[in-house]
Order: sequence, then structure tokens, then C-alpha cells
Amino acid sequence: AVTRTPFIAGNWKMNLDHLQAVALVQKLHWTLRDAKHESGSVEVALFPPFTDLRPVQTLIDADKIPFALGAQDISTHDSGAYTGEVSGQFLAKLDVSYVIIGHSERREYHHEGDDIVAAKTQAALRHGLVPVICVGETAADLEEYGASAVPVKQLGIALEGLSADADIVVAYEPVWAIGSGQAATPEQAQEVAAALRAVIADALGVDAAARTRILYGGSVKSSNIASFLREPDVDGALVGGASLVADEFAAIIRFQK
Ligand code: PEP
Repeated sequence: AVTRTPFIAGNWKMNLDHLQAVALVQKLHWTLRDAKHESGSVEVALFPPFTDLRPVQTLIDADKIPFALGAQDISTHDSGAYTGEVSGQFLAKLDVSYVIIGHSERREYHHEGDDIVAAKTQAALRHGLVPVICVGETAADLEEYGASAVPVKQLGIALEGLSADADIVVAYEPVWAIGSGQAATPEQAQEVAAALRAVIADALGVDAAARTRILYGGSVKSSNIASFLREPDVDGALVGGASLVADEFAAIIRFQK
């Protein structure tokens, strides 16, 4: 059987300047070290704003802190006259390993549709970055189509044309659960995660489906993380608000299965 290392991702969104970022990473590191957190049992990735990446990378590198680095977005282009865009080339040079793609806030406020999500997924893979592909239904979608239909369709489009060995992470984030304090139930998360794993099997094959980590995101906190990770198809969490508080994020990382 394939074992998937649990993955805890902290999406800071547009919070914390580079000085606050360094302070949070140091505090997180001390908190986990004092609690004798065993690195290796869980993978942790931080997704700060672009302007924080270099200072956080320098700190992680100097102090050998066992966190991976991720970006919150990527350009579909590799270089050129695209003012304000950030290339995957530049991210890879900063030791960035992951990139969030298709977060509901980008889909909603920046009108990123499934075609852009697919192009960004390919851009990430072109530069050796692992795309964290976000999918999820709105409250209106949930009422009209149920939980799985929209995320299944979104993921199917994102995976079109990828090779069977593509290294990806999928995040199921019901839009109504993000930042609302009202998380999905573990059963709801499991139902959609299983449907998404079937999409991966269809698109990339059963090996890819067995290997790919599927995260749940939406109002995850230290008091509910264990209930999600107990589900067989939920391999971790994408955490927004709770990733900004060192003690709380440390408690999520130290979850008990
Ligand atoms: C997110 O933005 O990806 C998220 C899950 O946010 P929160 O944890 O705050 O609901």
C-alpha cells in the first residue's frame, strides 16, 4: 500500500510583512522544537506573500528549519512583458517547492477560470514546482448540484494533458467553509476527497491517484484537524486564518491521528 505523508499547508494570504513573517516562522520553530515535534511524520509548507519569500527562505536555510516554502500564485508565462506577474522560474530559484493554484479568492476576485488554473498548473510543473490545485463548490453550487459535482469538474479540467508522473497536490476547499468558522464535516470532506481521487485515477492513472495527497481546507483549527485526518482520503489540510497564530498552527501540525 502507498503511504502518503500528511501535509499541512499554511496559506497566509495577504497578511504579514517580511519582518512579521520572520518573527512568526521563528516562533513556530521554537514552539515545535520545544514540543519535540518529529520532523518526517508530517510535511509542513508555508505560503507567505511574494515579498516575504526571500527572508523566510534565508531563515529556513540558516536555521535548518524543516518547513517547505510555497507561493500563493504563479504566472502562466515564464518571462517577458507581463507587468506585475511572477514567473515560476524566479520562484524555483528561491527554493520554492509548492504553489497554490486556483484558490477561490483568485477565482472570485481575479476571475481566474478553469482554463487559467490549467495553464498555471502547467507553468508550475514546467519549473519543477508542485501545484496545490484548489477546487471547491460555493454555497449556491452545494444547494444546486451537491458537494462533488463542481470540484470534480474543476479538477478534471486542471489535469487535462498532464503526464501520469506529474507531482501534484489537490486541495478541496468548499468556498462556504473558507474563513467562515463553519468547516465541512469530516464525512463531507471524505466524500468529495474520494470523488477527487477517482478523477485523478481517470486522468493520470491509479498509481498517481494512490500517491497524490488530497487536502481539506476551510476553517481548519487545532480542535478539528484530527477528525479530518482520520478520513482515509484526506491527507492533510490547507489552513488559512489559523496558520497566522504560532501556537495554534503548531498544535495543528502536532495533530493526533
Ligand atoms: C484558505 O484560505 O485556504 C482557508 C482554508 O482559509 P481558512 O482556514 O481561514 O478557512
